[in-house]
Order: sequence, then structure tokens, then C-alpha cells
Amino acid sequence: MGQRNKAFGANFGRVIALLGCTALAGCGMAFSDKSTDPQPSPADPMAGIPRAEQPARCPGEGAALQVLGSGGPIAEAGRAGTSYLLWIDGEAKLLIDAGSGSFLRFAEAGGKVATLDAILLTHLHADHAGDVIDILNTGGFEGRTAPLTLVGPGDAPRFPATSEFIQRLIAKKGGAFAYNGGYGDGTEGKAQIEVRDIPSLGGNGEVTPLDVSNDFSVIAYPVDHGPVPALAYEIEVGDKAVVIAGDQSGRSLVFQMMLEDASPAILFAHHVINGEQGQPRGLHRTPAEIGQLAGAMKPARLVLTHNMERSLSRIEGSLDAIAQSYTGDVSVAADLDCYAL
Ligand SMILES: [Zn+2]
Ligand SMILES: [Zn+2]
Repeated sequence: MGQRNKAFGANFGRVIALLGCTALAGCGMAFSDKSTDPQPSPADPMAGIPRAEQPARCPGEGAALQVLGSGGPIAEAGRAGTSYLLWIDGEAKLLIDAGSGSFLRFAEAGGKVATLDAILLTHLHADHAGDVIDILNTGGFEGRTAPLTLVGPGDAPRFPATSEFIQRLIAKKGGAFAYNGGYGDGTEGKAQIEVRDIPSLGGNGEVTPLDVSNDFSVIAYPVDHGPVPALAYEIEVGDKAVVIAGDQSGRSLVFQMMLEDASPAILFAHHVINGEQGQPRGLHRTPAEIGQLAGAMKPARLVLTHNMERSLSRIEGSLDAIAQSYTGDVSVAADLDCYAL
């Protein structure tokens, strides 16, 4: 608790200093020059919220995990839907999720499809997969023709398997964007998308190592996200690991057990609901349950993302609930935040 409060206090000053960032809509204007600006500044949505110190850009050397989209399914200024980008030595190597708005953030971050080894989807909610076709298609304009691996969960009632989802988008016959059918079979000068489905089975499927790159390793973990087939991912670069928990409920017992004492550099947890309101509890961890996960996994840093006004408005309660079980550093993500590994 004390450690977290110390980080909170230290970060508070940085939060104020960081408000000129481009990632937060309107912040540049609100804090441009108060001495000549007669308008009262609007309430700052990140005030009092611990945010990790940020470099001007993701590092050009070494590995870093960038949050492209820190938001959720509710349209709110300044936050795209969930998406992350793994950088290694200045190249975008792995895209995890492609929620609504991440197409724009991908470009702002300087990402290129040409350098990607793979795309991973945690699940097929639109705030995690809505922009995947646009990101694939911008690769066509870069001239990428090498096949690209795309991994996501298997099927369940009302949810197609990831391979079927992609087919429904790009199949030459009957696809919603049939004109992009070249991504299905590698014709028309397009990169063929090779899709792999990993069964989630309500969080009880098999833990699956993925062979997608020579530069990093990935393990897919099934998680419970109510009726939605869903995966979490552990990504290891050198001797540093990050875990992206994705959308998951506190019933994700296989995941939590397998990663007990894993001590990754960072755990990204999705702060979708607060502990007080009548939110979709069957789908997501409460802040207390995020704390229990972090307490068991023991990451050096916990990053809360998938933020919305409904969760951030109760952030102090969330941080207190997390601190009951986890006393390491906690920060709250904004779009384009970069975490060096
Ligand atoms: Zn979500
Ligand atoms: Zn979801």
C-alpha cells in the first residue's frame, strides 16, 4: 500500500507535466498558456491518476510494448479501442488486438504492416477486432506480399472462430469486403493471411505456445470472458516478459494458476468495470479481482487499460481495492503510452 501511494504521489507531478501530450484530446489547448487564456480549463480526465513516465517516442533500440488503444466499446474522446504494438529495435513486430480506432493510432505510432511477424486477437468483440481489416489492407499499400500469421480464439455459439471471422470479411464469394479476397489466398499481389484458431473452451482450453517469430516467443492462454471465446497472451523478449490479460472474468483459473509467481515486467489488465456499479460482472474482473491476479502473478508493474469514464471515475476506489492484494507499481494507460522492457 505504501509503495503504491509513493508511486502515486511521484507520478502525480508527472501527470501534470505530461498533460501537453498529443494523445489526449484537447489537453494541449487546455494547458497551452493559462496566463493569457481567460477560459477556465475543463476538468482533466487524467488528474490524480498514476501514469508511467513517458518517452517522446517508443525506443528505437531494445524492446517496448506500446498501448495503441487504451479505451473500450463506449466512444470517448482520446481513447481508441484495445490494441497493443510490440517494438523491437525500432520495428513494429507484433500487433495484439485491433480495436476501433487503432488503425489511426497504428499510423500515429509509425507502425508498418511490412515488419509485423504476426497479429494476435484476444477475442472478437468489436472494440478488440473492429479495425483488423483496415490494418491488414494498409499493408497492401506498403507492398507487403509475405504471408502474415493471425491468431485468435476458436468458436462458440454466436461467435465464429477467428478463421471464419476473417473469411466472412474477405472471402471472394460472399465476403463483406470481397474485393479484399486476395488476402485470403495470396493473389492480386496481397499478403496471404494464415489464420490459426486456438480453442478457449470457456477458459479451460490448452495453454498453447505459438511459433510466430525468431525475435520473441508467445504463449496463448485460454481465459473466461463469459460466453465469449477469449485468450490472454504472454510475450517474452530476451529475459523480459509481458502479459496481456485481455478481457477476462475472475473465473479464469487456468490462466491465473499457470502464471502464479511468473513475475513478468508488466501485466496489462483490463479495467472495464468499477467495483461499485451494476456492470457486466460475468465478463470482467472487478478491481479487487485484478488485484488478486496481480498479487498472484507478481508483475513488476501493473498497467490498467481498457479505460472508460465509468471505470476512471472511481479510480481511487479501484486502486484501493487492488492494493489489498498487490503492492507493486500501478499506472493507468493513455493511448500511445510506451513501456520499455
Ligand atoms: Zn473489451
Ligand atoms: Zn470483450
